[in-house]
Amino acid sequence: MNSSNDAELQPLRDRLIDLSRRCGQIKDAKRRACLRHLTATERTEILRKTGAKCHICGGDIRGPWNADHVMAHSAGGKNSTDNYLPAHSTCNNYRWDYLTEELELILKLGVWVRTQVEKGTIVGRGIEQRFSAYEVTRISRRKSVKKGKVYKKRLQVECAAQGP
Ligand SMILES: [Zn+2]
Repeated sequence: MNSSNDAELQPLRDRLIDLSRRCGQIKDAKRRACLRHLTATERTEILRKTGAKCHICGGDIRGPWNADHVMAHSAGGKNSTDNYLPAHSTCNNYRWDYLTEELELILKLGVWVRTQVEKGTIVGRGIEQRFSAYEVTRISRRKSVKKGKVYKKRLQVECAAQGP
């Protein structure tokens, strides 16, 4: 039995925790590498590479998007436009924190959960209720954060207008 099969036999909770721990070791370096500011011309060039399609889900990009590092800076990836591809902000943010192996497991889990919800099993109904409640909380939190940012910006503009 190879190590990949060994990993698949690990209890799900242990696997997720292990993957999350391993991922955390590279997350910060990757984030730091992506802090480079791209010019409008560079962003346009990156968007043209895929014909304005998200390289993660393949969908059209019409709203906010991220220039996603293809190869992490920590793994030798360059900060040139050659090393970026466009991605929906949502796709990039959800994918951001996960290793490939971790994301595959999350997708498998998600597909299984979807089946449970569609079939209306006891597990599926429980997940549906809790997930709906979670989404309501998550969306309301996001809205209050956005309102906070708008308020901060307004305050900065007002302070700047008043002068010293
Ligand atoms: Zn996408």
